[in-house]
Amino acid sequence: MSPRRRRRRKELPPLVEARRDAMLAVVKSDASDRPGTYRLLGKDGEVLYVGKSKGVRTRLLTHFRAAYPKDKSARMIAEATTVAWDYEASEFAACLTELRLIKRWRPRYNVMMKRDARHYAFIRLTDGPAPKLHVVRGSRDNDAATYFGPFHGATQLAAALRELNDALGLRDCSLDTKMHFADQAELPVAAPRTPGCIRYEIGRCLGPCVGAVSAAHYDERVWLSREFLAGRHDAPIVALREAMEASSARLEFERAATLRDKVARLESLQSQFARLRFAVETLSFVYTVPGDRGDDRAYVIRRGRVRHEAPAPSTPKERALFESSVADVFAPVARETGAVPAHEIDELLLLASWFRKFPGELERTAPPNVGTLTRSA
Ligand code: SF4
Repeated sequence: MSPRRRRRRKELPPLVEARRDAMLAVVKSDASDRPGTYRLLGKDGEVLYVGKSKGVRTRLLTHFRAAYPKDKSARMIAEATTVAWDYEASEFAACLTELRLIKRWRPRYNVMMKRDARHYAFIRLTDGPAPKLHVVRGSRDNDAATYFGPFHGATQLAAALRELNDALGLRDCSLDTKMHFADQAELPVAAPRTPGCIRYEIGRCLGPCVGAVSAAHYDERVWLSREFLAGRHDAPIVALREAMEASSARLEFERAATLRDKVARLESLQSQFARLRFAVETLSFVYTVPGDRGDDRAYVIRRGRVRHEAPAPSTPKERALFESSVADVFAPVARETGAVPAHEIDELLLLASWFRKFPGELERTAPPNVGTLTRSA
């Protein structure tokens, strides 16, 4: 017995050791080196961890070799009572299934170990009265808010967003601030005439909390902010440029320089959005992935999300059926924006990172035009 194994035997309680050895025996006798996902289950069936690999057996064995208690893998193996796995057609299929299972069960050890949307910055547009635009890290599933992103550099993003909020008079205060629109029925207790908020005093916020603006007027500014982010509306930049030129003409060079910096931040925000829209739109195609056992699958991907998947069609009838699904997925929509629903963000990040890590896989994609689909892998 190796010194390493002796050390582990000393530290694991005998019952845990026996359970661990029983699970290891099952893996050694039953698991194959095929793509798939696996689960470690604890007492009462709690899913402790979900993983994926292109070789399930090898991956599971590495968990069992980890040093206890230093390594997280070894600690979760010590806590697990059961190990289970399912094979998938390919590593890509395993990645998608892993993501979906993690989202469904939120296993404790995945939360501790995974990199996910929390590592990116997003602009979040809240719902409810007087929506607010603010920068957040990650997203929450089942959130009715609209997200734009992902972006790197939360600090720069927040500075640019501050300019947009100021230019359009949008609020940036705490979400629980009570709103009181000008066209709202009077409250039993009259709202204060000023909120004691510097942004209102210096004309940077329309004041939806003190009845200084109607709901419709405020909503129109929110709509303008979305149009600005979508690159369809330049008014905040135009107004700042005019103010800058007027300041220069009055020889107020310091103020003109401040306004120039504001314009630059807004332009940078708009160009970040243009790049984001392009990146998201680029992730739109049919991706055919060879199966580990000849079970090839075709994925219809639009705007960074798998919208439909099926066995890769091989007969004219299957091809016609598949092409009709592709046509449904790519039916024209009223307007594309940079907005990504909260529940789609993790899959967008997964697909972006997959094609960044394996650029050669783009060779297996085809544009979603009828007649050019399902190019053979
Ligand atoms: S004026 Fe009112 S709504 Fe606007 S930022 Fe200040 S507290 Fe918020």
